[in-house]
Amino acid sequence: MDQTISTARATAINPDGANALKTRRQNALLIANPPPAPYCKAMPKQFFSHVTQWVFDLDNTLYHPSARLFDQIEVKMTDYVMKTLGVGKAEADRLRSHYWREHGTTLAGLMREHDLDPDPYLVAVHDISMDHLEKDAPLAAAIRNLPGKKIVYTNGSAPYAERVLAARGLSGLFDDVYGVEHADYFPKPERRAFDRVFARADVTPRQAAMFEDDPRNLTAPHEMGMRTVHVAPEPVRADHIHHHADDLAGFLAALT
Ligand SMILES: [Mg+2]
Repeated sequence: MDQTISTARATAINPDGANALKTRRQNALLIANPPPAPYCKAMPKQFFSHVTQWVFDLDNTLYHPSARLFDQIEVKMTDYVMKTLGVGKAEADRLRSHYWREHGTTLAGLMREHDLDPDPYLVAVHDISMDHLEKDAPLAAAIRNLPGKKIVYTNGSAPYAERVLAARGLSGLFDDVYGVEHADYFPKPERRAFDRVFARADVTPRQAAMFEDDPRNLTAPHEMGMRTVHVAPEPVRADHIHHHADDLAGFLAALT
């Protein structure tokens, strides 16, 4: 049956039916042939109808980068490198940049190149003020309304993530909170980090979506079959990024 005949038949039965049929066809076409990433923000809902598991990064994702929380952590990380390796600030900054490029995070570099004990490091670098964070009722409502399982997965530690969630008014909305300690200290963007956390969290990537501010950390989720959302003020064009969200609460609210 060609398209003209079936559309005509649908119109004959119910004039609105033709529009519904057209919309279903357009949706099917979009899913089969999605537009180039990042998608237009107007119609993300249809791309998430299969999603029952929602994975959120923490820093600069569940709060806006303007809170500049990471600035405080950066200072603590540099201090820790200076103290642990007995180097000055310039050398510590150079090393941290090298660790970030070669190993993904400062912690991974310190563990691999200097056999650092990760737990005291995680406590020290996350000992920061939450004064710049505000409760976010629209985001809380949007997360609460999502159907299915919701988790947080951060390269920070889980206790730190719980403090951030409390300061944002997001406590109790997630089924679980995972930190780098749950990935055997392997950091995102490494695939083995995601494998470990998703095994613990019982995440099925093909039924899941990942929300992240760092584009690197969406590569593995995309490979695994997840829907990927880059959460940031500005979009980044990349094949592994399906959607861009500059307003996470608004983006999520449009999905339900
Ligand atoms: Mg982040």
